[in-house]
Amino acid sequence: MNALSKQRCFIGLGANLNNPMGQLRAAISALAGVPGSTLGRVSSLYGSKPMGPQDQPDYVNAVAELYTELPPLQLLDALQQIEQQQGRVRKDERWGPRTLDLDLLLYGNEQLQCERLTVPHYGLAEREFVLYPLQEIAADLQLPDGRSIHGLCQQVPRCGLTVVAQAPC
Ligand code: ATP
Ligand code: CA
Ligand code: CA
Ligand code: CA
Repeated sequence: MNALSKQRCFIGLGANLNNPMGQLRAAISALAGVPGSTLGRVSSLYGSKPMGPQDQPDYVNAVAELYTELPPLQLLDALQQIEQQQGRVRKDERWGPRTLDLDLLLYGNEQLQCERLTVPHYGLAEREFVLYPLQEIAADLQLPDGRSIHGLCQQVPRCGLTVVAQAPC
């Protein structure tokens, strides 16, 4: 199968425990090894403030482009497997600290909704730590509903978001 028959996806990465920058670099290597998939561009690593509970370390975030022939739920399985391999422990607290969070932000131009998966990711348009890294690697991107990444970034302030390391790839 060639690149043209693959879906262009974007994955949001986040970590705030156990060497977050190392967690993100390991996750990027793991993404490159997802079956039927090819890693594309990877953003710089960004530092951001936590959502929800503030009694936890700041986050490191990035966005990666992945071309895949996996169907959406199989891709989600692969992402959750990588989270598990990197020691993610699921707790009841929403938005609590974690070694690694991988969110499927976009799957081609698809709009999907089922129990396990909503795509585009529901927080994409409001989260500065998703929008600015996405704009860095896909400046001309449009969401399935026609909104542009450029327009969304103009509406959402950076809220202290800073580049903490240059693009790994
Ligand atoms: P948020 O979803 O607000 O960013 P979170 O990433 O901390 O919060 P998780 O505990 O990682 O939330 O995920 C909860 C559930 O969300 C997962 O078990 C998964 O089935 C579901 N989910 C729905 N849509 C998506 C998506 N686009 N990407 C990843 N998980 C998703
Ligand atoms: Ca807490
Ligand atoms: Ca998340
Ligand atoms: Ca998640």
